[in-house]
Amino acid sequence: MQIQFLGAAKEVTGACFYIETDCMKALVDCGAFQGPDDIEFKNYEPFPFNPAEIDIIFLTHAHYDHTGRIPLMVKQGFKGRIISTQPTRDLAKIILLDSANLQKEEYERWIARPKNQEGSKEERFAKPLFTEQDVEECMKYFEVHPYGNSVNITKTCEFRMRDAGHILGSAIFELWLENDAKRLRKLVFSGDLGQPGARIVNDPDLIRDADYVICESTYGDRLHRDRNETVLELLAALKSAQESKGNILIPSFAIERTQELLYEINLFVENKLLTGLPVYLDSPMASKATEVFRQYPNFYDEDAKRLLKKGDDPFDFPGLQKIDSVEESKRLAGKKGVAIIAGSGMCTGGRILHHLKNNVEDPTTHIVIVGYQVRGTLGRKIVDREPVLNIMGQEYKNNAKLYTLGAFSGHGDQRDLRYWLRSFGHTPRKIFLVHGDGDVINAFRSNLREHFRTEIVAPNQGESFNLD
Ligand SMILES: [Zn+2]
Repeated sequence: MQIQFLGAAKEVTGACFYIETDCMKALVDCGAFQGPDDIEFKNYEPFPFNPAEIDIIFLTHAHYDHTGRIPLMVKQGFKGRIISTQPTRDLAKIILLDSANLQKEEYERWIARPKNQEGSKEERFAKPLFTEQDVEECMKYFEVHPYGNSVNITKTCEFRMRDAGHILGSAIFELWLENDAKRLRKLVFSGDLGQPGARIVNDPDLIRDADYVICESTYGDRLHRDRNETVLELLAALKSAQESKGNILIPSFAIERTQELLYEINLFVENKLLTGLPVYLDSPMASKATEVFRQYPNFYDEDAKRLLKKGDDPFDFPGLQKIDSVEESKRLAGKKGVAIIAGSGMCTGGRILHHLKNNVEDPTTHIVIVGYQVRGTLGRKIVDREPVLNIMGQEYKNNAKLYTLGAFSGHGDQRDLRYWLRSFGHTPRKIFLVHGDGDVINAFRSNLREHFRTEIVAPNQGESFNLD
């Protein structure tokens, strides 16, 4: 029995873990690499296995860095089963279709570019990886299951999904795998683990035992600030911008972060802490995702269920306007004293770029960062307070006021991750740390070594381990 780390190894994107036993070949996640071009080019490399031979993809959640290469698998002959929760399936469809559209638009822009443009990538890296039809095709292979049910998917493989509390429908996978020699091994994949106490979703489930744990490490080197303080900071940022008649730009991931923001702002408005602030949700994808959230209230935590019972729609409030068309979005350019929530979450594309261009040189602008920013992305440059920002090929002075609200992160911090790992007691033979930048993983590993006797490994990209 073997595991190979094919992505999210000493980096945060491209999650893909290959498992091979005598009886089956499976993947846990099959995500896209995201970030600067040299990282994204990795999506064009061939898989180091034959997609047609993969029996199952266990899918932890819908985010693109966990799902983005699934359409490529299907294009290249995958005919197996994709196991996920219902919200994961619905959200994955939205994310993948959005990506197919963006890729198509980018390719059209690439074709129409001035031919002497410097630094223009080669055609093979400009071509879309997949189309809308490819996404539709891959949806046929989804098979949804609830949390908590143990399922014998083959004679030698049993799985159970548990709540990872990261985004709606996100799952931790417990896998019991047997090989010919009847050796049984239990593997636990954390997926992305949420923060205890997060809005809408439940706290991550604790698992009591495993032979091998594959654990995410995104924030393994730091502690988040107190969540309540962060919520107050968000309120302060909104009010300060309102007073200075400046705009508030919130680059946000369409899924979960946006709904959490709406949830918090809804509470501010309902409790009269904030009045008269027009809030524009300028992301058709986030609006679609919010509809999926509305469909699955049984996946909410108790607080969100209670709001719903009281008749309050947690994702809507007076002053909220959803922007659909590009024309409407462009009309926001002349507005002052408004909040705009738009994607992409790391400012790597999408409508937020236009709003940044229009506002970033104005000192009354407030930028509120609510999610993790991968190195090399424009969002990271904003967080690092770079004085000049290159936005769509043009330079802009960065005069905006910055608020980094880490506690809105969809990931647990070092303490949360350690707490989650602790529930395994001394049962794991090895803990593999994935889904974190190299230095973060090293710091997390050193920290864990002070608390655990278990062997803790930081696999490299492509590295394999025998699990017998
Ligand atoms: Zn995620």
